[in-house]
Amino acid sequence: MPGGYWNTTGRPMSWAAELGRIMVKKYLFGPVASRRLGISLGIDLVPFKTCSINCVYCESGATTALTLERREYVPIAAVISQLDEFLSAGPEIDYLTFSGAGEPTLNSGIEHVIGFLKTRYPQYKICLLTNATLFSVPGVTDEIAAVDLCIPSLDASTAEEFAVINRPVAGLDFTAYVNALIAYCRKARSEVWLELFIVPGKNDSEASIARFAEIIRRAQPDRVQLNTLDRPGTVDWITPSSGENTMRFVRALEPLVPVEAIGPFKYKSANLKPQLGSEQIDELILELISRRPSTPADMSTALGIPGKTVKTRLAVLVKAGKIASVTNRRGEFFSIP
Ligand code: SF4
Repeated sequence: MPGGYWNTTGRPMSWAAELGRIMVKKYLFGPVASRRLGISLGIDLVPFKTCSINCVYCESGATTALTLERREYVPIAAVISQLDEFLSAGPEIDYLTFSGAGEPTLNSGIEHVIGFLKTRYPQYKICLLTNATLFSVPGVTDEIAAVDLCIPSLDASTAEEFAVINRPVAGLDFTAYVNALIAYCRKARSEVWLELFIVPGKNDSEASIARFAEIIRRAQPDRVQLNTLDRPGTVDWITPSSGENTMRFVRALEPLVPVEAIGPFKYKSANLKPQLGSEQIDELILELISRRPSTPADMSTALGIPGKTVKTRLAVLVKAGKIASVTNRRGEFFSIP
């Protein structure tokens, strides 16, 4: 999880200008234009810089609180109150994103924030940027199950690479982390974009790429995002992966899942589904059910949109009076009233 304030737009933006866009709310930042997520409001659940690992490429600097301990690092009631105050005005936002300078799942109250947002503001999609190292902790993947998009990271294909690149807290076992990540990707109801940060000379040998391919073959995420150094990390020896080097990963992984390079070198697999905004999804749903009443599962299959996203948008459309539902023996059907 390339950390810190990920509010990059893909366009040049001065640090001062960027700072000027950061909202003055203790646990929220933005909304900002994100190159991956459109307009995002960041939610920061841990103090600077609390993380279970200490990545050499971290844009936020070295981890000062290296820990696996889960607790309420920032008061969840205050986070919810700030979110309620901000969202009650109905701002245009594509994603509410758990991110910030640290690992969000370290906060033991993350499930409460997700539950609040899903109940009170179902019209907004939720994204979680996570290093996934706590997925092997019982209950964590259940707590985050309701997010719409999860972007976990995987930068190491062996315990040795994990030690050099991610520098984990003592006791964090690489095999347990990878197995839990694979299990999560396979069962997640949300979209999963697995992010892999290429560190030349450390995780890009032919053997490493083959091991990554095997992990990704087993995990089957919705897409893999290849990233590399764009801003200074925490060590001076790290260099960016060239386009040619990044393409070695693309060639190995593309037969398995759609791949996107999101670092300085850009690439997209031809079969990468475009990310649709809420309005576009609503239009597709309305167009489909104007032709025939459909169940959420019918819509998900016909439109190629995750079932969870379909259900979220249906709730919004029902609330707005644009669609209605009837339940019969075959399930709940939606139509235009
Ligand atoms: S996982 Fe932690 S150390 Fe690594 S990039 Fe993210 S915030 Fe930084």
